[in-house]
Amino acid sequence: MGLDEIAKGVVVALGPTPAGLADKLGFGEHGFATFAELTDLLVHNDAIVVVAAYPIVVRALATTLSSKETDPAVVAIDEGARFVTVLAGAHHGGEQLARLVAHHLEATPVITTASSVYGTVALDQLPRVHFARIPAKLQAKINHGNGITLLNPTELVLPDAIAGLAREGNDPLKIVISDRICDGNLGDLQSTLPTLTLGVGCSSDATAADIKELIATTLTSAGLDSSAIDRVGTIDRRLEHPALVGLHLELTGFTADQLDAVKTANPSSVVHEAVGTHSVAEAAALLAGGEGASLIIEKVKTDRVTLAVVRRRRLRGSLSVVGLGPGSLDLLTPRALGALRSAQFIVGFSRYLELIEPVIERGQMLRPYPIGQEIERVGESIALASRGNHVALVTSGDPAVYAMAQLVIERLTEDLTLRIIPGVTAAYAASSSVGAIVGHDHAMISLSDLLTPWNAIEARIEAAARADFVIAFYNPRSTQRTWQLEKALAIIAQYRQQSTPVLVAARVERMGASITVTNLAEIDLETIDMETIVIVGATTTAANHGYLYTPRGYQGTS
Ligand code: SAH
Repeated sequence: MGLDEIAKGVVVALGPTPAGLADKLGFGEHGFATFAELTDLLVHNDAIVVVAAYPIVVRALATTLSSKETDPAVVAIDEGARFVTVLAGAHHGGEQLARLVAHHLEATPVITTASSVYGTVALDQLPRVHFARIPAKLQAKINHGNGITLLNPTELVLPDAIAGLAREGNDPLKIVISDRICDGNLGDLQSTLPTLTLGVGCSSDATAADIKELIATTLTSAGLDSSAIDRVGTIDRRLEHPALVGLHLELTGFTADQLDAVKTANPSSVVHEAVGTHSVAEAAALLAGGEGASLIIEKVKTDRVTLAVVRRRRLRGSLSVVGLGPGSLDLLTPRALGALRSAQFIVGFSRYLELIEPVIERGQMLRPYPIGQEIERVGESIALASRGNHVALVTSGDPAVYAMAQLVIERLTEDLTLRIIPGVTAAYAASSSVGAIVGHDHAMISLSDLLTPWNAIEARIEAAARADFVIAFYNPRSTQRTWQLEKALAIIAQYRQQSTPVLVAARVERMGASITVTNLAEIDLETIDMETIVIVGATTTAANHGYLYTPRGYQGTS
């Protein structure tokens, strides 16, 4: 379990809990008066942050912990909020939780697991690489400098994240990468990766149980590990069929023409008569298995189901383009956090990687970039994912708002799974910091004329001003681009009063944030830089009790 999977978390304290901490973590908050209450909280939560003297917490844990595999993540904070210490569940979210809490409280995280002390690979913390059971002595050997040798009997093209585990050293530990159950005996540990792709055909009256049974018996008799199933290929007309949906596996559909174009071991004219392709199971397995996949189990059939199994030559990688939000970690969505945590590689502007540092784990590899070089960042992310790695490409705010999601889609290759994960964009974070200035129709306009000609930008400003949109200006002013904002505001001034409110928000939700409400006449352009967003109100934008807002016009409608 990792930080993103913590279902039920709570901050508990004998005295007051640190202000805002529970909200920032998305946890509940609880006081406790008796020892029994504390033990009760420890039993009923997946993650607990306890503010109390450590001996009290240790005594409570002594009566509640059962095993390293199931312990909750327990983090204790001294009442002075100086140290944040992992007491249990270190590798089940505890370490990340301690680092995150320490970040929020500006305290020191205290993490004492051996692998973190030695700075070595923690076998139970590798994203997307699972071992059934890791004997403690194996991790101890790694911590003390033994090497790691990878054995790869099925000749999978190993993605960088796996190949990178190999290291020099005496008496190396042997890790077997295989989808065959018997191969576990070749080494000290086995990792089963998703290398098996199934092709399934079924009649309309088939059930999920029929398919599951054929899969189970077929894989077992071939000595294959069912946890290695990557996905299921089938004919597109069966994609919605309950028997296939009920497998709860990733499904990929192909048209009869696509399937019929594949050369297969057992073509059937009867099948061709019925559905327009000579093969469903074998052809779909081969197509879904990607380039270089080999058929390892030819078509087997029961009355209602056909099944074939291929082994991928390389893993299917994934690329998540993750919007981090404006900066503070509590505005990172749980989905974005999940995508970060399960990534093997995290690619992005070095400053953004620093922002998310508290949630990055030791097993993850970072690819920091200087400002700019967007094409290179996207290129490296796609290349890594195409080689079977799981990659997160991070952007600030939302990944589609003047960011890189578009470029990724333009350059996408076939052999990876793409996810675009939205984030809170700067305009919305800025707007909510003063109220609701974007409260009615609004336009977002980037003043950067590096990729868009200035006359197009000017035409859009003019149109948005004339139509009375609230206008959020991204990339308002840099050391090189100094005149565009002034020109933009002059265009708006033709349509709006000099007293129209303007929000100038710099480093929103980051260190050194500065939020100023001014107006068209008084705005100080010199203070505005590339970390600032400028939002110009519409003619209806107003203030109430110190909050700025643009009404939707409910007044008088009742
Ligand atoms: N994808 C980002 C925008 C990238 S363009 C998003 O959705 O927010 C970069 C511009 O966004 C900056 O020049 C600035 O105008 C704005 N911006 C991004 N983060 C900001 C923040 N934390 N505070 C103020 N403006 C920000």
